[in-house]
Amino acid sequence: MKDINVLVINCGSSSLKFQLINSKSEAVIAKGLCERIGIEGSQMTYAPAGGEKTETVTPMKDHTEAIRLVLGALTDKENGVVNSLDEIGAVGHRLVHGGENFASSTLITDEVLKAIEECNDLAPLHNPANLIGISACKELMPNTPMAGVFDTAFHQTMPEEAYLYGLPYHYYEDYKVRRYGFHGTSHSYVSARAADIVGKKYEDLKIIVCHLGNGASVSAVKNGKCVDTSMGLTPLEGLIMGTRSGDIDPAIIEFLCNKENKSVQEIMSVLNKKSGVFGLSGDFSSDFRDLEKAYRAGEAFAQRTMKAFAYRVAKYIGAYTAAMNGVDVICFTAGIGENSPFIRTMVCSYLGYLGIELDEEANVKRGEEVEITTPGSGTKVLVVPTNEELAIARETVALL
Ligand code: ADP
Repeated sequence: MKDINVLVINCGSSSLKFQLINSKSEAVIAKGLCERIGIEGSQMTYAPAGGEKTETVTPMKDHTEAIRLVLGALTDKENGVVNSLDEIGAVGHRLVHGGENFASSTLITDEVLKAIEECNDLAPLHNPANLIGISACKELMPNTPMAGVFDTAFHQTMPEEAYLYGLPYHYYEDYKVRRYGFHGTSHSYVSARAADIVGKKYEDLKIIVCHLGNGASVSAVKNGKCVDTSMGLTPLEGLIMGTRSGDIDPAIIEFLCNKENKSVQEIMSVLNKKSGVFGLSGDFSSDFRDLEKAYRAGEAFAQRTMKAFAYRVAKYIGAYTAAMNGVDVICFTAGIGENSPFIRTMVCSYLGYLGIELDEEANVKRGEEVEITTPGSGTKVLVVPTNEELAIARETVALL
């Protein structure tokens, strides 16, 4: 096993999350976050392992400036964790959309950059920000190898019948309109981990992963390959999410444009930012901690919202059980999946036909790997905390 430090970078349009991970021990040496890049009040949070977390409010006019500050913090004489940039052996970038060009992670070359740019159309908010992160690192660490790990890559094994929409076929040929799916790094990490936990070969299992965070998606992983997933051309499809609607009748868009006298763009913004559990709860909250409290207090808005959320997850589990002609293991992961026994119970209450028997004591646990079904349960249900940064660091090292 190589012994290098990998800087994992996740660039959003105005934010940048980072972790420095040692490839041998797989320990996080330092991590942090730059927020409000290019906006007034930019700030960096930096936390070295075992050290004190610091917050620095300082202008960051762009992502290059943000990465310069991150590298400065990592090599700082007092609070730094490495002596010089030479001790950072590689950079792994989280990239959102690789389209059909990337079925796996890749080392970043000029050609690769061009191919990522070609996918900008498919993820106009995310991909350009990811590319800015890459060019900023290139400028500051020109000799350090970099890898790109795509959110879409794991799903590229889906068969045609799963990724095609019922649209005129030439839209696929002309514009590549199809299902891509996202959260691939998480679905891949969690499903592989699930096989380890149950002590069976990844290639022999039918696994359903429910990644339930602010963004949420379900995937079906058969014999180690993704065969279906709930997000589509964009992350808007599928589950009811924090603020995204998930599946709706597409005719609703025209209907609402007419009723509300709004443009398609305005309604799309509602579907992405004002819908999901936030919208369904009457703009109460997109956070499940708040919703759970309100549910327990008997609030009708919270009850309808959480029931609709859990029902949609259960419906996808049913669909993917059919797609794989069975299921051996169901996994819950991400913010809600890892931390909400309440939602896990609600979802599993629909799964009696799979012989699922929850172990109430195990199910109260939060944020740790645990089997939450009884030994006699017909199907195993696991909680597997996701670790996208570690998965990106591993992929990066494997490519070197
Ligand atoms: P993302 O990475 O998509 O922003 P996360 O995976 O971090 O999302 O999940 C964030 C969500 O997890 C929060 O919106 C919140 O609803 C949920 N969450 C976090 N902690 C808890 C908890 N203790 N109980 C219930 N839900 C929680």
